[in-house]
Amino acid sequence: MSHLDPDTIALIALGESALPSDIEHVRGCLPCQGELDELTAVAASARAISSEDRPVVAPAQIWDRIEAELTTDSRTIPAPVTPQVHRKSRGMFALAASVGILIGGLGTYTVVASNSANPSPTLVAQAALEPLRDVTEPAVASVQQIDGREVLYVQTSGLPATDGFYEVWLLAPDSSNMISVGMLDASEGGKFPLPAGIDLAAFPVVDISLERFDGDVTHSTDSILRGTLTI
Ligand SMILES: [Zn+2]
Repeated sequence: MSHLDPDTIALIALGESALPSDIEHVRGCLPCQGELDELTAVAASARAISSEDRPVVAPAQIWDRIEAELTTDSRTIPAPVTPQVHRKSRGMFALAASVGILIGGLGTYTVVASNSANPSPTLVAQAALEPLRDVTEPAVASVQQIDGREVLYVQTSGLPATDGFYEVWLLAPDSSNMISVGMLDASEGGKFPLPAGIDLAAFPVVDISLERFDGDVTHSTDSILRGTLTI
């Protein structure tokens, strides 16, 4: 008699529909029943997550357990792997995938995601951009580190409509040197990945200029907003 596929047992544990013959098998088979009991307990604790539990408590325990199962499995690889160990881990893995969806549905996906290399942005520097002309609302700029990459965010409001365009620059303190980081959407602000290895201390001034469609790629010298990054 062949046992049930671990994925099938995981689905039964999650209360998904199963073939009557599969249910019949589990009822009469001790190993499959044991596996189902275990997966059902995990699925039940995953389902018991209430809004007070998130984002960490219950999911962390579940993921610790799943991780332990997978780690145990990988440690057993050099030794002869018994079919039982393998079956169980596959079942846990199938369940992990399902529970992952369940957790995702509760809006606690960050618990899972936080296990990968720190994807949350880190604030590196920020600046208040003061109006130089035509604008009454100050703007803000910040540099965030995301996945090892520095990204400049610019948020503006009340930039006047123009038949030219707005461009964002990083300037040396004395304006002797500058880098164009991109065109700014006046209504939405902008997000500009910075060149790797840029030294913000050498280019600490965020400047937004009004440019004309004149084919001249250099700074128009018509600056609208400017501020110095505090690193
Ligand atoms: Zn069986």
